[in-house]
Amino acid sequence: MKKVPERRCVICYESKPKKDLIRIVKPKDEGVSVDLTGKKAGRGAYICNSLECLEKAEKSNRFAKVFETEVDKKIYLELRDLIGSK
Ligand SMILES: [Zn+2]
Repeated sequence: MKKVPERRCVICYESKPKKDLIRIVKPKDEGVSVDLTGKKAGRGAYICNSLECLEKAEKSNRFAKVFETEVDKKIYLELRDLIGSK
């Protein structure tokens, strides 16, 4: 049986198939960005494709903690657009 690769959302800690999550990546020499291909090199984190998790992430600025760096607010806007369009 083929196993679907699962990743864990950094907000609700639920494991889900990769396609139900959005990857955020922090390449070594760049800022944090949304990784639409899921293949960008760097440290990655996943968030559910849900406004609920996004709002929690935004409120606590969770990605700044996850990546231990400052995160541009536009990341959250970008995610909001993405989630709203799916
Ligand atoms: Zn989640």
